[in-house]
Amino acid sequence: MTERAPKLDLRQDAVSLTASLVDIESVSGNEGPLADAIEAALRELGYLEVLRCGDAVLARTETGKDRRVVLAGHIDTVPVADNLPSEVRGERIYGCGTSDMKSGDAVMLRLAATLRDAAYDVTYIFYDNEEVAADKNGLGRVAREYRHWLYGDLAVVLEPTDGILEAGCQGTLRARVRTSGQRAHSARSWLGDNAIHKMGSLLTRLQDYQPETHVIDGLEYREGLNAVRIDGGVAGNVIPDECTVHVNFRYAPDRSAADAEELVRGFFEGHDVEITDNSPAALPALGDPLMQDFVAHVDRPIVAKYGWTDVSRFSAFKIPAINYGPGEPNLAHKPEESARTTLIEEAERTLAAFLTTPYGDAG
Ligand SMILES: [Zn+2]
Repeated sequence: MTERAPKLDLRQDAVSLTASLVDIESVSGNEGPLADAIEAALRELGYLEVLRCGDAVLARTETGKDRRVVLAGHIDTVPVADNLPSEVRGERIYGCGTSDMKSGDAVMLRLAATLRDAAYDVTYIFYDNEEVAADKNGLGRVAREYRHWLYGDLAVVLEPTDGILEAGCQGTLRARVRTSGQRAHSARSWLGDNAIHKMGSLLTRLQDYQPETHVIDGLEYREGLNAVRIDGGVAGNVIPDECTVHVNFRYAPDRSAADAEELVRGFFEGHDVEITDNSPAALPALGDPLMQDFVAHVDRPIVAKYGWTDVSRFSAFKIPAINYGPGEPNLAHKPEESARTTLIEEAERTLAAFLTTPYGDAG
């Protein structure tokens, strides 16, 4: 830890603390100073077991409670868009990372500072590199190197959800599908075999595909199988010998990653299919009793999560996990990114109430 690490005062209210976190710039890959500040502040509390793993900071209580709740938030942001330092105007706080997701991190830090004696053991995970390629993801690294630190009976990921509950998450598979032919001069095209033309039937197949909707725990998860990019062609006078379509399959959480791959391979049967990435979905787990307790406490609408989030990493260990955070997803990654101060305060109140109410006593 460097001597110059900025200091965080966890006695501030959650909105001021959000501002402090936002003002320590932490674009993916540059989380060091913020991680140092968080680590120092958590250690200073004196009652938590603290672990540093790269630029992820983990802290937990070990009081022998029957159940453990894990709270997780990434501390990196997308590149700054001339939107630092933060600024509070009216009921909003503006700046890079206010919504995604330093307001969530601030709530976690406030809970760590104030809940010395919760009804559950609590693990706080602050991690790096969420906004970049999956192989850099700090939570993935923690899962590989300190797997037992992820364990709990419920995980809440405080990504922006606008204060409502977003259950589970879709899986996402990327694939490249290739057609090949024979290159030739276009003036003597009968000597060649056009790979771009061959792609036509595959695109028609994609266009005609009727994606499924799966209802799980009463929530609708709509799927999608789409071409997202196409490459092909050599020159204006050449019959192309290769064409590649990039496909993205967003799938419902009741499909495993293997099922999703099988569907895609079957769909393009007879063609050269290369799976380039496949991140599994997460089931909503709304039938889980502790999840039900949590949902009752939050008492806000609950919807299916569209998109992939790190709840999937908990789900992979059979830990029920849900997205609930004070930021607003529609404002994430925008120059005018902001969060509502009332939602930040509400998230802190709600989580504190949940964590201090004994299991089964949900209002
Ligand atoms: Zn995020």
